Amino acid sequence: TEELHIVGGGMAGSEAAWQAANAGVSVVLHEMRPTRGTFAHKTGNLGEMVCSNSFRSDDHENNAVGLLHWEMKEAGGLVISTAYKRRLPAGGALAVDRDPFAEDITAALKAHPNIRISNEEVTELPDQGQWIFATGPLTSDALGQAIARETGTEALAFFDAIAPIVYAESIDMSKAWMQSRYDKGETEDEQRAYLNCPMDRETYEAFIDALVGSDKTEFHEGETANYFDGCLPIEVMAERGRETLRHGPMKPVGLTNPHQPDVKPWAVVQLRRDNALGTLFNIVGFQTKMKYGAQADVLRMIPGLEEARFARLGGIHRNTFLNSPTLLDDQMRLRSKPNIRFAGQITGVEGYVESAAMGLLAGRMAAADATGVPVAAAPQDSAHGALVHHITGGAEAKTFQPMNVNFGLFRPLEGMRGGRRGRRERYKAYTDRAKAAWSDWIAGQTPAAAAE
Ligand code: FAD
Repeated sequence: TEELHIVGGGMAGSEAAWQAANAGVSVVLHEMRPTRGTFAHKTGNLGEMVCSNSFRSDDHENNAVGLLHWEMKEAGGLVISTAYKRRLPAGGALAVDRDPFAEDITAALKAHPNIRISNEEVTELPDQGQWIFATGPLTSDALGQAIARETGTEALAFFDAIAPIVYAESIDMSKAWMQSRYDKGETEDEQRAYLNCPMDRETYEAFIDALVGSDKTEFHEGETANYFDGCLPIEVMAERGRETLRHGPMKPVGLTNPHQPDVKPWAVVQLRRDNALGTLFNIVGFQTKMKYGAQADVLRMIPGLEEARFARLGGIHRNTFLNSPTLLDDQMRLRSKPNIRFAGQITGVEGYVESAAMGLLAGRMAAADATGVPVAAAPQDSAHGALVHHITGGAEAKTFQPMNVNFGLFRPLEGMRGGRRGRRERYKAYTDRAKAAWSDWIAGQTPAAAAE
């Protein structure tokens, strides 16, 4: 079998190496630390957690990230099994003792007979051999430039500017309505791509006050060096002038509120469909550095969003990531150079767990290529499958931003739309369906067609 090269020994690269090596493939893991560092990493260990020590909820019956934990455990994942081994008490969350965690990951990979570790920076996308690039949000500059040469600069971002994403079913349609500005769009589908929430003058003024007064996070030291080219958070726009938003992302023109056709809104918040399923909408132009708690409170002041539930809140961070919907095939290979796979946060997922999960898939898929034993694509009803399907196809390419795993990425359940059954019951049905699909896949029993 062919040797597999993996670049980056973070969450994704470590898991990919483990999965491929356990499938009998000989792996070279290239990690630039400690020779070359990043502004966030502190050690030379593999699997270093750069910030919080949490793998988030461990509830695999009611939570999509807990379901990812469960699926990784079933697949013999190194990252998740080490997290359980180094677990700290934290209620329902999976918190981890970070140094022993990373030391254990490093030791396990070093001791594996099929893995060789090479501490060096890789700066090119090679034409030959099988490669997985899992270099993360802080991919080194030289490699970032090499990737941009291959993909075009438009398709590689160095910052995320994430607008909050709302579950469609939690929007109050007695206040909001579907309409594209000036009714643009040829097809009915295009016209249904936008949803609008109207504001009267009083609500707008209160909203501006709340934005300006909210709690915000700051950039890390070194985070903006050579990169940030300006993508203003809404609260900064609001600070520049009380009318700025009303003349920017919240302009009330080209729209008619069918609930009150005679009243012209003072401002309008627009939401844009975020996935082909139509289960998620992002709030247009609302990238923000408000803290999560403050953010949810402020956003729920928007008429129609009083009861909104968020698939993810907004943020702005240094983050190298690809426009995966246009660049990667469903096996996470670069369409223009199929000997190269990507995995982890650079593919446009967000978080330790999601990154490790994409490493797990990439490792297994690369191993299948190397050994000549084919593997079906991950089933779309599993958490892994829903996430990889979103980034490589389901997400809107034009507005693509990094995504956490959430139930909005899953195919809706028959007969369970519109809150007719309780949320808990619905989540349990999603996780039961996912576990069955994932178990079949792990057992090699997913027929190729069923994974579509
Ligand atoms: P990483 O874990 O970053 O691993 C990538 C590896 O590639 C690194 O070890 C790096 O040294 C190496 N590398 C880079 N370029 C090269 C090269 N050219 N050659 C060789 N090696 C290279 N997620 C959370 O879930 N919770 C948080 O609290 C959180 N906080 C964060 C804070 C900051 C400041 C940042 C930047 C990210 C944060 N994230 C957080 C996101 C987090 O980075 C990812 O969730 C996760 O670590 C990504 O895994 P990864 O394997 O894709 O990348």
